[in-house]
Amino acid sequence: MTERLEGGLWCHDVLSLLDQYIDGQLAAGDLAAVQAHVRVCEQCARFGGAYGRVVAAVRRGEATEPAPEQLQRLTARVLERLE
Ligand SMILES: [Zn+2]
Repeated sequence: MTERLEGGLWCHDVLSLLDQYIDGQLAAGDLAAVQAHVRVCEQCARFGGAYGRVVAAVRRGEATEPAPEQLQRLTARVLERLE
């Protein structure tokens, strides 16, 4: 799996920012970068499950409420695959 650099962020940067996005804690600059990344990154768009739903929500500019523990486990798994 190859990570992409889009919007000034790598895929693993986006992953690590998603929990802050869900909490509404993401700074405006980071939010813009995450949105710029997922809008063009097919790599992020291909992740499934809760992560895929969050990516889709970010793309649409919506808030999302997946189960936080579920998303954390999923994010950890995706990060393992990226490394
Ligand atoms: Zn990506």
